[in-house]
This record gives sequence, structure tokens and C-alpha cells, in this order.
Amino acid sequence: MVVFGPSLRIFGFQLIPELDFVNGMLCMVFYEIKAYGITVGYHRYFTHKSFEADDGTAICLGIAGGMGAQGGIKRWAGNHRRHHWKSDTDEDISSPWYSDNIVFGLCFSHLGWVWTERQIDDPNLVRDLAKNPIVKFLDKYAWFWPILGFILPAIIAGLITWSFKGAWGGFLWGGVMSTAAEHQFTFTINSICHVFGSRPFDTGDMSGNVPILSGTTKGENYHNNHHEFEESACHGLLEDQYDPSWELIKKLADHGHVWNIRIPSREKILKRLKPGSPPPKVIVIKPEWIRKPKNAKKAA
Ligand SMILES: [Zn+2]
Ligand SMILES: [Zn+2]
Repeated sequence: MVVFGPSLRIFGFQLIPELDFVNGMLCMVFYEIKAYGITVGYHRYFTHKSFEADDGTAICLGIAGGMGAQGGIKRWAGNHRRHHWKSDTDEDISSPWYSDNIVFGLCFSHLGWVWTERQIDDPNLVRDLAKNPIVKFLDKYAWFWPILGFILPAIIAGLITWSFKGAWGGFLWGGVMSTAAEHQFTFTINSICHVFGSRPFDTGDMSGNVPILSGTTKGENYHNNHHEFEESACHGLLEDQYDPSWELIKKLADHGHVWNIRIPSREKILKRLKPGSPPPKVIVIKPEWIRKPKNAKKAA
């Protein structure tokens, strides 16, 4: 018997478990893992090579990003590199300016483009990644990482509550809902950050900095800065711009897991800043953020 209502039930089984403490924590924790996997892993490490990492860190970042269910690394990086190359032109797969109607453009750039034929696998854009054995391994099992992102919270919740009902709650809230939220906030970069926001750099496209999205997008919201300095490990380059992904990269560097961090010099930033923009943030680069630790293992 099916009972519809706030708590949908089938034969007495609650289909949508309530958002209790365990489910809430799992949803938050897995959101963080998937979001940082995409921003620090897929985007700043694999796509833009903003820093180097040891093998273990690269694999963890790749799996975390894979759990975010945005496809394999080569395809993601290829599409993204093309976005930078052809930004806000007809050949940009996810530009809100694809249409003359900006409301349609916002919807298309947010989610619509995912279901179009505009995504292409261009091997010329990812030659470096195609040779990387870690990327080969991660992409070979690209179908499995999103499933892992669903079943891991289910297993954890099942073990905590020691019940099937608990595992189902972990699957739904920690797995499905965290992935859905992570998708929506990633896509705000394509949509909102290419229509709204401040533009302290003249990037020749419509990328903007939208401070309110800092926590949810992990610093990717400083998108105008990013289009100006694609290779920079820090996107929140100006004063008072909080960039959580940069904070994580610094922590990984402090522990010797990443090095050769790429940051534009203050002089370079000042040279390109439009008059009246906030000044660059003071970033003191520690020597250990640059040199490779003696015991670091790196495959490519
Ligand atoms: Zn962009
Ligand atoms: Zn980028």
C-alpha cells in the first residue's frame, strides 16, 4: 500500500527518510568531499596544473572529484579548457550568452548544456592528461566513482544506525542529495558567474566575481580573477576574497603533499587590475610550497 504525504511510504517503509543528525552530517561531509574534489582536484590540479601533487594526493583528489558525478577527468578538462579558450563565444559549450534571451541563456548555461551534443572529446586539448597513468586509471573506472559517492555514505549510515532504514537515509541524503547540491553550485559558475559580479580584470569575456557564492563553490566564484590568471592556485587573489580551495591547497602544501604552487606575482596582478579595484591580497609563499619534498612519489 502506498501512502502519499510529507512522508511517502510503501508497505510502511519511509521512502524519504527525515533529515536527522546522521543524515545531515553525511550530506554536509560528502558535499565537502565532492565539491573540493571538483574544485581542487578536477579543476585546479588536473585541468590547470596549478600545483604538483604526490601520487596518493592526486588519486584521492581524482576519486573525490569522480564521486561528484561530473564525468571522467579528460572529458571534464577538455570541455573546461575549451571554455577558457572560447569563453562566451559560439564555441563555448556552456555560455549564458549562447542565446539572445538571457533568461534562456542562464538556464542553458546552468544545466541545459549537459544534455546537448555540444560536449565534445577533443584529444588535442588533453594530450598531457592522456599520458598520465593516474588519469588513465581514474578515467577507466569513471563509472564507479559516482556509485562510490552514493554507497559510501549508505554504508557509514548503516553501520552507525545498524539498520537498513539508516543505510537508505545515508544513500539518499549523504549520496544523492549531496551530489545534486554539488552539481547545482558547480553550475552557478557557468551561469551566474558569467552574467553577474564585478570585473576587476579586462578578460574579454563576461566572467565576474560573485562573493556570496564563496562558501558553496569553494572559491571558484572569483571567476573573473580565474579567467585572467587561469593557472593560479588561488582564485581569491584580491583583498577580502575568501577562497576555501586555496586554504586547502595551502594545508596540503604545509604537509608536503603538494608543491610548485603557481601564483601570479603582486606586480603582475597590479599591472592588469582596472583602476578603482580592490588591491591584491598579500600572499607570502613559503619555500616548502615551491620545492618538491625529497620523499614525494609522483608518476607523471
Ligand atoms: Zn568561465
Ligand atoms: Zn578554469
